[in-house]
Amino acid sequence: MAADRRIVIENCSIATVDAHDTEYPSGYVVIAGNRIESLGAGRAPEGLENVDRRIDATGHLVTPGLVNTHHHYYQWITRGLATDHNLFNWLVALYPTWARIDEQMVYAAAQGSLAMMARGGVTTAMDHHYVFPAGSGDLSGAIIRAARETGVRFTLARGSMDRSEKDGGLPPDFAVETLEGALAATEATVKEHHDSSFGAMTQVAVAPCSPFSVSTELLREGAELARRLGVRLHTHGSETVEEEQFCKELFGMGPTDYFESTGWLGEDVWMAHCVHMNDSDIAAFARTKTGVAHCPSSNARLAAGIARVPDMLAAGVPVGLGVDGTASNESGELHTELRNALLINRLGAHREAALNARQALRLGTYGGAQVLGRAAETGSLEAGKLADLVLWKLDTLAHASIADPVTALVFGAAAPVTASFVNGRQIVENSRLLQVDEDAIARSTREQARRLARIAAQG
Ligand SMILES: [Zn+2]
Repeated sequence: MAADRRIVIENCSIATVDAHDTEYPSGYVVIAGNRIESLGAGRAPEGLENVDRRIDATGHLVTPGLVNTHHHYYQWITRGLATDHNLFNWLVALYPTWARIDEQMVYAAAQGSLAMMARGGVTTAMDHHYVFPAGSGDLSGAIIRAARETGVRFTLARGSMDRSEKDGGLPPDFAVETLEGALAATEATVKEHHDSSFGAMTQVAVAPCSPFSVSTELLREGAELARRLGVRLHTHGSETVEEEQFCKELFGMGPTDYFESTGWLGEDVWMAHCVHMNDSDIAAFARTKTGVAHCPSSNARLAAGIARVPDMLAAGVPVGLGVDGTASNESGELHTELRNALLINRLGAHREAALNARQALRLGTYGGAQVLGRAAETGSLEAGKLADLVLWKLDTLAHASIADPVTALVFGAAAPVTASFVNGRQIVENSRLLQVDEDAIARSTREQARRLARIAAQG
């Protein structure tokens, strides 16, 4: 949309998730081009010019678009498998299948993953892709193409693995890259696709998979590469007790100390899970401003444990929410993670004081933008920031009897999305995607899931 064209949204509740948690029981938002021009209580200012559209959002809550901070799109075509396993057994069960993916499968899986998130209010997405079997095609290009077509803002965390079975790792030998190959391909992906400008739609991060699937050299040189190129770093950390034991046996220290020794703590780093952290680990994350992608459903699905989110927030650690790969969170939705984060953390040490509805909404919006390094651009509704926002319909059977809209959104059923805007462009209308054909995507994901199962069965 041209910078002087406007969309006016009125008569809605607004949760801005700004620094003061400003809310308006009835207010307006004016979008101009790809930015939020103004917002506030009451009706929009009189006399606005070039208004292309006026939306009467009575019965709706407007929030910043949701930000997903951890995912593995390729897993969309291996959902519902190894359903009663812990992380290591689940990985061992699925790696032989994952090692057979190709560009066609990854493209369909990315479309499915993105579509599911976008129709549930995600406006900024990411994919941590780390399985690059030799000869499988341009997987990074396919994922980025799917994100562009869906219309979301996107970070590709270009993953890698170089520690396979022969080196004491979990992935099969043919599913991993060499150290040099992984670094060179990651650098090429950053140079081809990363946009560092304000409002960028595509960014790339350097993202070796995890301590137990990559060499110490890949971690260390990956961190150096990211800093030389000026991009962010992402990996899995402290997910399970087994990982902690693995690090202690192999490196003589726990995961956080190991990450610190390889250059992996810093404000340009975010890590998925961080379930098994002691007080000094949390203090190290807080001191270095290392971010966390909290994935409550995946942690429950794989019986990993409960991350100490209240303690992290109290210490000043940036925390966002993640769906995680859909082989360990079959729903693939982020809006339901607001609720799951709140409920699961209340089962931990802080009980009912663990998280409230506003904190859960903040994790899924501003917190996510922080860990992706985009908080100056998106994650809260403020004049001058990007027009990434969602209109949640809260006046139907599911929510109408709950007075407080943020409570309705977080505690209630997954709310329908009447409209979702990214960069001022609408990508969802009445829970249907506008830029892509959801039914065609459903068909192609089913076809590719069957194709992968057939190829994997042949061995
Ligand atoms: Zn993950």
